[in-house]
Amino acid sequence: MVYDILVKNGRIISGEGNPWYHGEIGIKEGRIAKIKPKINDDAEKIIDAHGLIVCPGFIDIHSHTDYILPVNRSQESTLCQGITTTMVGMCGDGMAPIPKGKEEDFKKKIAKIDPVLQQFDYPYHTFKEYLEYNDGKRNSANLAFCVGYGNIRWAGGQAFENRVATPEEMERMKSYLREAMEAGAFGMSTGLIYAPQIFAKTEEIIELATIVGEYNGLYFSHIRSEGKEIIKAIKETIEIVEKSGCRGGQIAHHKVAGEQFWGGSIHTLKLFEDANERGIQMTYDQYPYNRGMSDLATALPPWTREGNNDVILERIKDPEIQEKIKKDVEKGIEGWENWIKNEGMKNIYVSTVGSDKWRDVATLSIPEITKLKGFVDDWETFFALLIDNKLVVGITIESMGEDDVRRIMKGRYQMVGTDGAGIPASFSSGAYHPRFFGTYPRILAKYVREEKLLTLEEAIRKMTSFPASRLGLQDRGLIREGDWADIVMFDPLYVKDTATYEQPYQLPEGIPYVIVNGVIVVQNGKKNKKSPGKVLRHLC
Ligand SMILES: [Zn+2]
Repeated sequence: MVYDILVKNGRIISGEGNPWYHGEIGIKEGRIAKIKPKINDDAEKIIDAHGLIVCPGFIDIHSHTDYILPVNRSQESTLCQGITTTMVGMCGDGMAPIPKGKEEDFKKKIAKIDPVLQQFDYPYHTFKEYLEYNDGKRNSANLAFCVGYGNIRWAGGQAFENRVATPEEMERMKSYLREAMEAGAFGMSTGLIYAPQIFAKTEEIIELATIVGEYNGLYFSHIRSEGKEIIKAIKETIEIVEKSGCRGGQIAHHKVAGEQFWGGSIHTLKLFEDANERGIQMTYDQYPYNRGMSDLATALPPWTREGNNDVILERIKDPEIQEKIKKDVEKGIEGWENWIKNEGMKNIYVSTVGSDKWRDVATLSIPEITKLKGFVDDWETFFALLIDNKLVVGITIESMGEDDVRRIMKGRYQMVGTDGAGIPASFSSGAYHPRFFGTYPRILAKYVREEKLLTLEEAIRKMTSFPASRLGLQDRGLIREGDWADIVMFDPLYVKDTATYEQPYQLPEGIPYVIVNGVIVVQNGKKNKKSPGKVLRHLC
């Protein structure tokens, strides 16, 4: 047999943004061996791609799949969308490093994401060991890793305190960061609305990001504000990139949140234009929905989030403190993204909860829960949710205007990222955001086919070669001879997302084949048990 797989009769979109062409692809030993108008050689497996677009596998540049991997490694929801490479370690958090002696503390910390994560052992300490641990696991898709600044700050010693790091702590943080970059992290991410990162000053981040710059890495950021102070927050990111010498900056899940700020993307996109004109590479990723997803505790004022979870819980049980929280929400605090004031309780929907007692409220808004449970007002619901669930309350927030979503999507510096995670369709926990299942097909259906906001070729470029070049992946993101055979095939007339906020765990339609490293992983729209994925490393 000349080829392992031969893809015949398809329309190829190469990923560079060029128009489609008729061509056939011979795959051998994991790579694209031949592309020609017609290939008549024999192959182990022949796929008839008549009526289908054949394009590079999608590169999800912003994912939280690393939180799911200990529980389930199938990545079904992302693979079935066509994602063949997933970038994790986003929004400033992640699963490494875990310094010796801090294993139990790590479990407590990670329980805030999902209590189930406490039950696992994390048999590694350094970032290098973490990557090697993942090398040894079955991966359906390729994984690329960023190191989370929150993890570095926690490992370096100042944990959840609101103060400036001491020189010794800074040195420790730098050595953890250096180790991660040396091991193959693609950069450092921050999540500056989350504790303890919310307490970090710009100068501290610049000093650390300098290490990332030494390794030619990227600075990824969930910025301090996506609403009222968004301009200031983007400017801070540009300043960090410029002063630290990082190769470039990437703003996570770019959006304008809060109805009173809608239209702001006209100004935010200008900041990207200006920075790039000055020679500072600034890009962003986006998912195509009007709701964001986060956790309810982040709606609390920053001063209430100092210390570990036990301390925070005790604090917010105090009726006097509760009154003060209400007042702060009403007045606002400079530099704090005040969701309850900006978006309103009615736009906050519960997605996941830590306690079984509250399972019935998943998908409901806070006022709907108030009604269901017979509480006096939404504040009572708010505190009861946080206290009963020990702060583990996932939420989606209706916050974005469609005009901004469209303008941001069309922007020159936009690439696609789910900000979701790979989970199985049989997942039983809560009701996560539909973006976990629908991000890429939703863009292809709604924004390409129906609304014609983007051409098909342009949308695919934003899903493939653009993120690949951003990450410095030299042999992925294109349909090109010699490159790794990461390929997705979809029907441009029928591809669509089916996941909704009410029914989020539904696979998309119209994506019959996905190939990772020359191995078929999705066939007739169903994931098989193959695991050809690799752990990718950043080469400095
Ligand atoms: Zn984020």
